[in-house]
Amino acid sequence: MHNKPKKEVILIGAGIMSATLGTLLNKLEPSWNIKVFEKLDQAGKESSNEWNNAGTGHAALCELNYTVEQPDGSIDSSKAVEIYEQFQLSKQFWGHLVEANDIENPQDFIRPLPHISFVYGENHVDFLKRRYQSLSPLPMFEAMKYTEDPEKLTEWIPLMMKNRTSEEPIAATKVEAGTDVNFGELTRKMIDHLEGENAIAVQYHSTVTDIKRLADHSWEVRVVNAVEGTIEHHTADVVFIGAGGGAIPLLQKTNIPESKHIGGFPISGEFLVCQNPDIVNQHTSKVYGKEPDGTPPMTVPHLDRRYIDGQSSLLFGPFAGFGPKFLKKGSNMDLLGSIKPNNVMTLLSAGAKNLPLIKYSIEQVLATKSKRMESLRTFVPGAKDEDWELITAGKRVQVIKDTDDSGRGVIQFGTEIVH
Ligand SMILES: Cc1cc2nc3c(=O)[nH]c(=O)nc-3n(C[C@H](O)[C@H](O)[C@H](O)COP(=O)(O)OP(=O)(O)OC[C@H]3O[C@@H](n4cnc5c(N)ncnc54)[C@H](O)[C@@H]3O)c2cc1C
Repeated sequence: MHNKPKKEVILIGAGIMSATLGTLLNKLEPSWNIKVFEKLDQAGKESSNEWNNAGTGHAALCELNYTVEQPDGSIDSSKAVEIYEQFQLSKQFWGHLVEANDIENPQDFIRPLPHISFVYGENHVDFLKRRYQSLSPLPMFEAMKYTEDPEKLTEWIPLMMKNRTSEEPIAATKVEAGTDVNFGELTRKMIDHLEGENAIAVQYHSTVTDIKRLADHSWEVRVVNAVEGTIEHHTADVVFIGAGGGAIPLLQKTNIPESKHIGGFPISGEFLVCQNPDIVNQHTSKVYGKEPDGTPPMTVPHLDRRYIDGQSSLLFGPFAGFGPKFLKKGSNMDLLGSIKPNNVMTLLSAGAKNLPLIKYSIEQVLATKSKRMESLRTFVPGAKDEDWELITAGKRVQVIKDTDDSGRGVIQFGTEIVH
């Protein structure tokens, strides 16, 4: 038997990331002492909450940005394979937790839902066809179906085909084995299990405001407890900043070299939501389109059947909004406070390099509900204003950093891991 020294671990934030890391660590090293500090009164209330994200179990079954068109016209599917494999690992992990009775009732957080890609216009139809030809010979995508036939499309996506009068060519692919994931419920289940059986301390109403490295290389975090009105100091061998949008300001406090020349730009998401059962019941899949030319993958429009709080609804979006806060429950000073002498040039360079994106973001932010409805009508031609309500979803803080390959001020559209 191995006899490794016991470690002290602090996880900052109780979203899906800390819940997952805490659960993994607890399985692998049950003797380690884990503490979680969460600013709010409950786990999974920020981006991981079910109303704050689109609930896509990203497995590259419908997201067109994971297959990249090369200059010679060929399609690079390596990213799609990688994403697919990662999602299989997530499902195996959740399956293990269910089998081990660590969490119950998986239907509360994962449900089968066909994943469809839908495009219109000659160029996009041509792209989708070549994408299908590149993916379908691979074992993981062999069940993918492709069609340009309006009758088949009406069978797959009746709501989207109704009242469609345009003569433009259209096409879609479909994979039955997609999923809708309630990340909020999954977070709560994992955190409940950690708190319950494993007696891991999850301290709510507790905001980490500073992180310092001590002489012996351990870490000290300063925690403000909003209920007790106290300030506590806790030490740990390892600290994980799983604070979502709040991660960059905390990373900057650590003063590690990786915390320099890095900044973030907050983008809030909005969805149009429909809860009219007559409409909801006509759409039983998740349909991803193609992002507008020159814009990043997060602008990809999609129409999702969701199951939240025991009720089915449709979500369309996300649309981008702007506000200076890094978290939904953040402060108006977040953005300003994150600008430091060491990252101001990084942020300015990113602005200068991404003028089309800035133009697109400004247009998005200024768009009214009727502009957003116009965008919805490219998916659901007969959509009526009164059936759809605009809601505010979660915040993303797009990481901007200097990289060796691409120079100063590069916007990172995926998740960044800094260690
Ligand atoms: C509009 C939108 C749609 C999305 N759609 C999808 C999707 O379809 N599929 C998908 O896989 N992902 C999607 N995402 C991304 C996904 O939601 C996030 O990657 C994920 O929720 C991040 O989890 P997290 O634990 O890092 O952060 P969060 O869930 O935001 O959790 C961070 C936690 O840290 C706490 N915190 C912050 N600062 C402090 C502090 N100083 N001290 C203590 N606690 C603190 C917060 O209160 C919060 O509880 C979407 C995101 C958005 C915004």
